[in-house]
Amino acid sequence: MNLPLDNIFNFNETADDCVKCGKCIPVCTIHMINPDETTSPRGFLDLLGAYKNGQLDLDQNAKDIFESCFLCTACVEVCPKSIPTDMVIEQVRADIAQEFGIAWYKKAFFLLLRHRWMNDIAFKLGWTFQTCGFKIKAETNSMNSRIALPMLKTSRVFPSLSKTSFLNTYPENIDNGGKRKVAIFIGCLANYNYTGIGDALLEILETLEIDAFLAKSQKCCSAPAYFTGDFDTVDSNAKFNIEYFESFSRDVEAILVPEATCSAMLKVDYEHYFHDQPDWRARAKVIMDKVHMATEWLDSQTELSSILATKDKDARIVTYHNPCHAKKVQGIHEEPRNLIKQNYKMVEMSDPDTCCGFGGVTMQTEKYRFAEAAGKPKAAMIGATGADVVSAECSACRMQINNAMGGAGVTTIFKNPIELIAEALKD
Ligand code: SF4
Ligand code: SF4
Repeated sequence: MNLPLDNIFNFNETADDCVKCGKCIPVCTIHMINPDETTSPRGFLDLLGAYKNGQLDLDQNAKDIFESCFLCTACVEVCPKSIPTDMVIEQVRADIAQEFGIAWYKKAFFLLLRHRWMNDIAFKLGWTFQTCGFKIKAETNSMNSRIALPMLKTSRVFPSLSKTSFLNTYPENIDNGGKRKVAIFIGCLANYNYTGIGDALLEILETLEIDAFLAKSQKCCSAPAYFTGDFDTVDSNAKFNIEYFESFSRDVEAILVPEATCSAMLKVDYEHYFHDQPDWRARAKVIMDKVHMATEWLDSQTELSSILATKDKDARIVTYHNPCHAKKVQGIHEEPRNLIKQNYKMVEMSDPDTCCGFGGVTMQTEKYRFAEAAGKPKAAMIGATGADVVSAECSACRMQINNAMGGAGVTTIFKNPIELIAEALKD
């Protein structure tokens, strides 16, 4: 990023920085499925400049355009000026939320994300009644609606809910008799839906004799709210998490996050969000140095890789998808592969960097047609590998890829790398 953080949100400066080279256009997720200049990084930047200069009203048409970006950051990676188009679109979505309000069901969802006790009750109720409305597939933690509704097509695959959340399953402090200690930030999907990820992370830490602190008061990182422009929720959860992390950070070596989007939100986006609150920005910067994606820290800071090398080889073939928030935002892609390849044969898909098309709450609801279209090429390239398992350290990717594979008839199973590693350790 060439512009200082303070200037980036002055949209016309960012728009002026674009040299219109078009290098971003072939990699842009929305442009691939909606090939129009207005839905391209260059087009978004032009419109943002016009909005800042008072030449564009934030009308329904502009709202539709700015909400069609997947925030995948593919454009940032190839841009010679490193223009953070995703960041400025996240910012304008706050203006859109002010202008149009936020849909009631998103508000209700974000309210849950602000209060863990409410979330616990809602998900428990969801677990109790999910079999009434959905057919559950336990082996993939997924479910399909029994009845067709506008956002609940019967063919659509959703993550099923677990009976007990990860954080409510274990004591807060787990003594593995070790001299080292880490905290775990689990993320909402792994806490309520894909709870096997947290179980697996604890098994790995037990093998390594590293004590675990579950940090049970943690709140949602607020990524879903940030991507939707609900900055009140971001402000509340981010400040809470920063203060909470500060309260125990001296007692732990690291805060491990087995989720790319949560980790990117904590480590990178909190600082962007607090661009106009310098004290909080400085606090976020300091505390988030302790936050690491789980595979990154386990690969670089422990002997896990050599322990895995002593274990049996597994006959299953694994292909790895690079979550945008892991590789493009945090540079993490070799670490999960280093660990997985110790016990599994790996085959690369034709383009592991292509965005899976999750895109956030709006993309998964009002603009689901775009998410569905963006998921198809990813499902096809996974199917073409013939792999038994597709892996990615991101439960948003898991939800989207499971759905895309279901629609394409691809039978590959999805597992977080942490789950594959824990399985290998049992051999
Ligand atoms: S963040 Fe992704 S979808 Fe949005 S403009 Fe950039 S490449 Fe396109
Ligand atoms: S790659 Fe960067 S400079 Fe080139 S058109 Fe895209 S946003 Fe503008």
